[in-house]
Amino acid sequence: MARWWKCPNCGALDEADPNCPADVTPLHLCPALGGHPAPLLDVPAPDADPKARNVIVMRADYQGTASSPIAAVATEYADGRRGVVIFPEPAAVDARGGAI
Ligand SMILES: [Zn+2]
Repeated sequence: MARWWKCPNCGALDEADPNCPADVTPLHLCPALGGHPAPLLDVPAPDADPKARNVIVMRADYQGTASSPIAAVATEYADGRRGVVIFPEPAAVDARGGAI
């Protein structure tokens, strides 16, 4: 039986590889979320909609110096579960020594 993955935001649809482990969540660059990586969610059939939504999470401490004000994409499920894809800020180090 085929498994299907679908984005709740843009409707992107993909048929799961039958050899893919069940605990893998595929990502796609979601046009509805500005091209940020977002999960595709399990649906029972191609015409079914996921019972969840992906939302952008802004950096709470953003002061204009980080590479992006976006910290993560969170998946909020209708049953209250929440998953998060985090975009860590790369560390910057002064070549003369010490953190910037
Ligand atoms: Zn999408």
